[in-house]
Amino acid sequence: MQPALDTLGRPLANLRISVTDRCNLRCAYCMPEEEYRWLPKEHLLRFEELARLARVFAGLGVRKVRLTGGEPLLRHDLHELVRLLAAIPELEDIALTTNGLLLAEQAEALASAGLQRITVSLDTLRADVFERLTRRSGLERVLAGIEVATRLWPGRVKLDMVVMRGTNEGETLALLDFARERGLELRFIEYMDVGGATRWSPEAVVSRAELLAQVESRHGSIEPLAEHSSAPAERFRLRDGTVFGIIASTTAPFCSRCDRARLTADGMWYLCLYARLGLDLRELVRGGASDAAIAERLRAAWTRRADRGAEQRLEELARGPLVGLDALRRDPHLEMHTRGG
Ligand code: SAM
Ligand code: SF4
Ligand code: SF4
Repeated sequence: MQPALDTLGRPLANLRISVTDRCNLRCAYCMPEEEYRWLPKEHLLRFEELARLARVFAGLGVRKVRLTGGEPLLRHDLHELVRLLAAIPELEDIALTTNGLLLAEQAEALASAGLQRITVSLDTLRADVFERLTRRSGLERVLAGIEVATRLWPGRVKLDMVVMRGTNEGETLALLDFARERGLELRFIEYMDVGGATRWSPEAVVSRAELLAQVESRHGSIEPLAEHSSAPAERFRLRDGTVFGIIASTTAPFCSRCDRARLTADGMWYLCLYARLGLDLRELVRGGASDAAIAERLRAAWTRRADRGAEQRLEELARGPLVGLDALRRDPHLEMHTRGG
């Protein structure tokens, strides 16, 4: 079958599956509120339903699947889903993004089920900052998870650090050292105005330019790596060979190369992180639609896709949070922790 291309010629190659909207942390950039409206349990797609959809997506060109959330490791027996996905021949890459809290105890099962790569979110190495930033404790457990992952997926573990002014921007070089000593690739992520980031302001963003200046001040000249990939991170090399990345979604977005879409745990499909509306695949799956009928709906939606949400935000002069609290309360699908980061 011909791979699906959107109106800007971008293929559908990458699917992020948010397996739960629940989380055991409350990161300031993602879930700053006290209360949330959760998706009804009976709406959550079963692993067989998710795997069936993944198979249909693979038929349209998807080659990479990333499990995310919420906190994906809160979904009971997640390794069983990994096993189902690993049995889909077209899928070349099955990855997971996690906050790491439950990783140490689940890593073995995930690795033997076929999980190929893992990204752990790590914003700080200080317990006091961790507690302030996430409103929970558990940094030690995250670090233990990273240690186990490094052993199980050598060379295939990344660390993601969202950098926020006034919170952790003083730790970028310490995180880089931490990653370098363990042979892990660190990616700095600009704070985005998307989803539940209701406290976002332009002043709180530590930009790509500022991050590069910080690293350069310690490590000297930085070599940009020339790559032709659809991956969101720009990669750089230090003089000692250390490679790190920057995901500049706020100041230098990468929409023109974006080949990813997101599926929520209850089966809503979003063609852009910033999209207001999605396609209800649960209705199709549970309504008895055939694989061919689902594929046709997916292809029709993707071929009409013109989204370039982050680039459009860049064109707005006065920027605040993308979505107000009222809208988030009305539709939890607008939340990053529901849609999957
Ligand atoms: N709970 C898992 C975790 O934290 O790794 C997976 C889901 S979480 C939504 C995935 C990623 O979304 C996090 O690593 C974080 O980098 C990113 N994220 C959430 N809100 C963000 C924001 N406002 N700006 C930038 N990145 C954000
Ligand atoms: Fe933090 Fe991830 Fe949970 Fe959001 S979903 S609050 S980023 S751990
Ligand atoms: Fe892709 Fe939308 Fe993010 Fe742009 S804003 S990179 S189109 S998901």
